[in-house]
Amino acid sequence: MAAALNILIVGGGTAGWMTAAALASVLKPQLGRIRLIESSEIGIVGVGEATLPHIRYFNRRIGIDERELMAKTQATFKLGIDFVDWGRIGDSYIHPFGAYGSRLAGIPFHQHWLRQRAAGDPTPIQEYSLPIVAARMNRFALPADDPADVMSTFGYAFQFDASLYAAYLRGFAEARGVQRTDGKIVDVKLGSEDGWVESVKLESGEEITADLFIDCSGFRGLLIEQALKTGYDDWTKWLPCDRAMAVPCENEGPLTPYTRVTARESGWQWRIPLQHRMGNGYVYSSNFISDDEAASKLASRLEGKALGVPRPLRFTAGRRRTTWNRNVVAIGLAGGFLEPLESTSIYLIQIAITTLIDYLSDRNTTAGEKFDPRIVAAFNRWIEMEYDRVRDFLILHYHATERDDTPFWNYTRTMRIPDSLAHKMELFRTRGSVITYKDGLFLEPSWLAVYLGQRVMPRGYDSRVDALDAAETAAHLARVRDNIQTALPRMSPHDDFLRVYCPAMPPATMTGARA
Ligand SMILES: Cc1cc2nc3c(=O)[nH]c(=O)nc-3n(C[C@H](O)[C@H](O)[C@H](O)COP(=O)(O)OP(=O)(O)OC[C@H]3O[C@@H](n4cnc5c(N)ncnc54)[C@H](O)[C@@H]3O)c2cc1C
Repeated sequence: MAAALNILIVGGGTAGWMTAAALASVLKPQLGRIRLIESSEIGIVGVGEATLPHIRYFNRRIGIDERELMAKTQATFKLGIDFVDWGRIGDSYIHPFGAYGSRLAGIPFHQHWLRQRAAGDPTPIQEYSLPIVAARMNRFALPADDPADVMSTFGYAFQFDASLYAAYLRGFAEARGVQRTDGKIVDVKLGSEDGWVESVKLESGEEITADLFIDCSGFRGLLIEQALKTGYDDWTKWLPCDRAMAVPCENEGPLTPYTRVTARESGWQWRIPLQHRMGNGYVYSSNFISDDEAASKLASRLEGKALGVPRPLRFTAGRRRTTWNRNVVAIGLAGGFLEPLESTSIYLIQIAITTLIDYLSDRNTTAGEKFDPRIVAAFNRWIEMEYDRVRDFLILHYHATERDDTPFWNYTRTMRIPDSLAHKMELFRTRGSVITYKDGLFLEPSWLAVYLGQRVMPRGYDSRVDALDAAETAAHLARVRDNIQTALPRMSPHDDFLRVYCPAMPPATMTGARA
């Protein structure tokens, strides 16, 4: 039986508090002390506002009440992401959190749709997805459990105020015994023989030891990079956006149950509706547009009155070469950053935490070893794979375009892409095959949404569908559309649903909220 671990989490942004909340809730009996250091002088990034449906599993696993979380973070529901002007200016498609139609004769729905299309049926695939149709009509309901019900064919995520989220998690974690210190780390002490982190020193002079250090210190990577020099794989050549300007504005009109991302001259702009305001940002490449121009373009394209001045952020797309190095695990921006186009950062934080929890709860070490090196290697492989998959999916958005109106799009359209992505695209172009995984992010509907939404059309389809009676196939497609139409009256206007389910509480009443 291994000894109880003392854990020090460095950083109190989304990553730090998600880690603290999860460890305290799930692993507490097996751990020693869980301590978190954050510096209010340095602050947090605090712009992660859009999430993926997986966050609901995280909430369930650690015991977070969804309605309370939503109310306290001014959250809205998210059924997908609306991509505007990506394939061509004037195009729009939604990447839905849910399926297109249902299989027929065990063959994926989109193969039947491709056959119908080849026979002259012009119905867009978007009409076979309930979350897309509902999002376009601003409607929302919780999904059904019964797999025979069309209302079970979608999932949902949240759009929330990231600073309130970290504050909420802080209250949750502290209530479960996490000890927080506000202080700035000024030195990191490494063991002279093994190079493991022994302690960190605060500006106050206090020195804090631990067995396992979780580096959630953001882009600076205080332990993983500044102390351990782990190295970073820079993916800017494929994901050239390296800066963002962010500014909230007042809400105008109904709250949409989706995030909108609009392709712009040198990057793209997000629009994320929250109950109390709209989050906006322009993510761009500094090689193609200046900061001043990006800020003024963003300000001129807001839907409501700006609530502040645009705030600049800088980043480098990529990931840390090793996420778990010696006794340091990097989570959040310290571990890597893939730009926020598909809202993947909080997912990557969550996956690192839950994988770590699985490995720690099964910590079986031989004498003299704190952590089984095979476990550490498996953890690193898993995180690498998650990053690589997200990377390819993001690159697809930039590369699969016909836009040639600016140097930025000419670069991304013609750049050399990773072989792994080129292979996936070729398979799709040949007969509509989508490479899927058993688990992890972005399954078949996600790839389909982007391929078809950005005009990557297959030359053929799976010939097995031709063995089916054409009338039977047409009837199946019509049934899917009918089912969606009959489900819509069971959904409410998104605003009405929020008012009943999770009306926002004023920030002052929140437990553990920071000024
Ligand atoms: C433009 C942009 C948009 C984004 N949008 C989304 C989105 O829509 N969805 C999504 O999932 N993600 C998004 N993200 C990512 C998301 O913001 C981050 O993943 C998330 O905020 C996690 O940040 P973090 O906790 O790793 O780091 P940070 O928020 O930077 O926190 C770092 C912490 O470390 C502490 N710290 C640092 N140095 C020291 C020190 N010396 N001593 C003591 N403490 C220290 C700081 O005080 C702070 O508490 C976005 C990111 C950017 C840049």
